[in-house]
Amino acid sequence: MAQHSSARPFHHPQPGSALACGAVSLEALARRYGTPLYVYSADHMVERLALFQQALAGREHLVCYAVKANSALAILNLLAGRGAGFDIVSGGELERVLAAAPEAAGRVVFSGVGKTAAEIDRALTAGILEFNVESEAELDLLAARARKLKMRARFALRVNPDVFAETHPYISTGLREHKFGIGIRRAPAIYKRAARNRWLEAHGVSVHIGSQIRSAEPFGAALERVNKLVQQLRRQGIVLKTVDAGGGLGIDYHDGSFDAEAKAAEYAAALERALSGFEGRLLLEPGRFLVAQAGALVTRVLYVKQNGKKTFVVTDAAMNDLIRPALYQAWHEIVPVRPRAGKARIVDVVGPVCESGDFFARDRKLQPVEPGDLLALLDAGAYGMAQSSNYNTRPRPAEVLVEGAKPRLIRRRETLADLLAPEWMPAKADSAAIERRRLSALALSARRRPLGV
Ligand SMILES: *Cc1c(COP(=O)(O)O)cnc(C)c1O
Repeated sequence: MAQHSSARPFHHPQPGSALACGAVSLEALARRYGTPLYVYSADHMVERLALFQQALAGREHLVCYAVKANSALAILNLLAGRGAGFDIVSGGELERVLAAAPEAAGRVVFSGVGKTAAEIDRALTAGILEFNVESEAELDLLAARARKLKMRARFALRVNPDVFAETHPYISTGLREHKFGIGIRRAPAIYKRAARNRWLEAHGVSVHIGSQIRSAEPFGAALERVNKLVQQLRRQGIVLKTVDAGGGLGIDYHDGSFDAEAKAAEYAAALERALSGFEGRLLLEPGRFLVAQAGALVTRVLYVKQNGKKTFVVTDAAMNDLIRPALYQAWHEIVPVRPRAGKARIVDVVGPVCESGDFFARDRKLQPVEPGDLLALLDAGAYGMAQSSNYNTRPRPAEVLVEGAKPRLIRRRETLADLLAPEWMPAKADSAAIERRRLSALALSARRRPLGV
């Protein structure tokens, strides 16, 4: 397997040359596809997937990529081709998997606290691997839908292990007070009740304690509790086939030399230690760790302006394209695509959206930049495009996936016609009448306006 000296696929092929993704210059991509532009390295994603697959080679396992991190069809297709399964949290994500890689339907786990009957039906008929059930009411609905369709539903209870994982409060999920999962102490009774229902198969147990968790330790602590539950159920005659450890392994947004291979190995070892005595299949649901560092958001500098003591670098990308800094105070490294000589300055990097929260960096030391220069926001492959919006009626960026020396446009830039398409519009005949009304209103207000104003 190719080794990266860096945690990221972006580098300068020669000193002074433009930043490149693999062998492809970001300047060339920006010229061809415009900005803002998401650029991803396919090779880097495949390498990250392989890190987990290799670290878990000693046990039957399945890496179920968390689709919500980046749900591009081309990325789902790429990872499915390398043996990945998928963790989905909506019927929409299921349709994406079925469209991108129908052969992977049997490798899908379905998480989420609010599954609807229609979503459950679709997943049952698609033959997914298991439902990660988050409440007793959901289990009752699952049983009812399975009975109706005369199919047996494989389920895992998503248990809440009540472990604390140090991360941002919005992305921590493993405490009793969170909306996710079922308290682990209540789980045995629920499994026992389900065992009496012929439409349900107690297939596994799952946990997911949060996101961007840097230490392997809380994952081990959570799985130890899960393993205790598995052993307890086994003594009662309920033999689970899978343990799903969830996702959440974090990356280092600050340090480009972050050793992903060592981190994946440490994580896998902690899970293995916690699972001693469990002979079944281990499922993982990584999202960020697989795709975050493979991606960058490339943006062009529109203006450099001075307000009092502060310097603002205004880019053509904004919070609607990448909301993580505004939403979680997330830190993304920002680098000029073609560095200029000169002294670094302390600047705010901001977008054009009408919100003070529309910033990518505050008081950041940045090499000198001029209007027209390109910047790359690194580690933007996860929860970037996936959380983008059309706020301020801004079309979403295009996306390019680079495989070796070959860039492929995997999503064209949205057009304003795309944005307006679902909306009510005046009919052609109406619009002439509206125009007449507009002109007469204009004439009226001109006559009423006092002189000199
Ligand atoms: C979001 C989520 C994941 C992926 O989390 P990452 O931090 O991106 O690895 C996995 N499983 C579930 C249930 C999730 O909600």
